[in-house]
Amino acid sequence: MKRPFLLVVLFCLLPASSSLLAAPAAAKPNILLIVADDLGYNDVGFQGGRDIPTPHLDKLAASGVRCTSGYVSYPVCSPSRAGFITGRYQQRFGHEFNPRWNLESKIDGLPLSQSTMGDALRGAGYTTGVIGKWHLGAHPQFHPNRRGFDEFYGFLGGGHRYLPGSHVDVEVGAGKKMETHADAEHASPMLRNTVEEPEPPELTTKLGEEAAASVTRHARDAKPWFLYLAFNAPHTPLQARTDMLAKFAHIADERRRTYAAMVATVDEAVGRVLGALDATGQRERTLVFFFSDNGGPMTKRNANASHNGILRGQKGDIFEGGIRVPFVVSWPGRLPAGRSYAEPVIALDVLPTALAAVGVKRDPKLPPLDGVNLLPFLTGETKTPPHARLFWRMDDGAAFAVREGKWKWFRTYENAPQLYDLVADPSEKNDLVAKHPEVAARLAASVAEWNRGLVAPVWFNNPFGGFINLPGPGKTAVP
Ligand code: CA
Repeated sequence: MKRPFLLVVLFCLLPASSSLLAAPAAAKPNILLIVADDLGYNDVGFQGGRDIPTPHLDKLAASGVRCTSGYVSYPVCSPSRAGFITGRYQQRFGHEFNPRWNLESKIDGLPLSQSTMGDALRGAGYTTGVIGKWHLGAHPQFHPNRRGFDEFYGFLGGGHRYLPGSHVDVEVGAGKKMETHADAEHASPMLRNTVEEPEPPELTTKLGEEAAASVTRHARDAKPWFLYLAFNAPHTPLQARTDMLAKFAHIADERRRTYAAMVATVDEAVGRVLGALDATGQRERTLVFFFSDNGGPMTKRNANASHNGILRGQKGDIFEGGIRVPFVVSWPGRLPAGRSYAEPVIALDVLPTALAAVGVKRDPKLPPLDGVNLLPFLTGETKTPPHARLFWRMDDGAAFAVREGKWKWFRTYENAPQLYDLVADPSEKNDLVAKHPEVAARLAASVAEWNRGLVAPVWFNNPFGGFINLPGPGKTAVP
């Protein structure tokens, strides 16, 4: 009879801090990579958005460094993910299009020659997991469990319906409203590792619950962990929980209202995960990254009523609106809090930054990374920019871009080369090619040099038109 009482007394004598209840301080930090999908540059509070409250994401940004020139390496989903999951420009290994949805294809997926962030951290003694959207190949050979991840909960395709049984996507594309039946990809099974599970009541909510459960489950492990939490929201289809929609009843436009509810659901899910980190005493030994896989699609296919603020263009463009994204790095006690960092950084930096935080060297037998360790730059220890130049190539060379300091040069198959001063002109309005031809020539030459290190796409996928269906693009468009 007395033992339970004793236990209660002992429990009450423990300090209020939960850290003593959690695992002993690990020498190596956990890594939490949170990716949103098709999130507009202006659609979270810490980016200046006003109509969609995102208190949890704002708190995350306030706890770390907000990179105001944070880029992804491609303006659509899968190539962008292939870039940051390998730390390499994905055109170096031919991953230049979204994979076609085909469970039988051994072609359409992250080439098996490539090593992932999961491989690297699992090799460093980490428990590794993916929760959410994979989109790096649907054939079993591309399954996350075979690409460096011990644990997987999610779906293999590039998108998914949020509400079970819903069958209609409403999209606005090419200026007209289209209704299409949700295809097999958006209704593909939810998988726990390789085992099918019933669809949850609402997908984004479930992904947050799963991530919080993972963080809690591994809190007391001897091993540190790496979790890649890949939301598919706020990518289309536009669907949200009824209670969340009610919070945005004041937004007259139905599409924007639904989009707002979806972004708020992502924010709520992030809050759930960060709350689990706090509750288990892991927050200060967890390095957190957050960004969107590409810019918001406003008028093209998959348009979701997102806003990219002052940036020109959208998902699918190499204008800033396609490739510059909300981007946060947070590691309390190790990185400054509430800081903005303006030098260009790119999602390819996530892997080398994580390896540096973990204290692991890249296997010298593997090809070199294109990203850099951002930690000394974000602490202010290193004053020079992390990158001399960042590069983009789209659709097998139908469009190219380079950023060097304040300069952005680009050309597309359709357009003559253009040059912008992004510090003075972040909206890319004033073409300076005629005023600074020497800068334009230098940057064009740098792109051509970079392009020589790339290969042709392993597969093509552009069912909605675009550059590659035009005569004569492809590698003939090299500047
Ligand atoms: Ca995307």
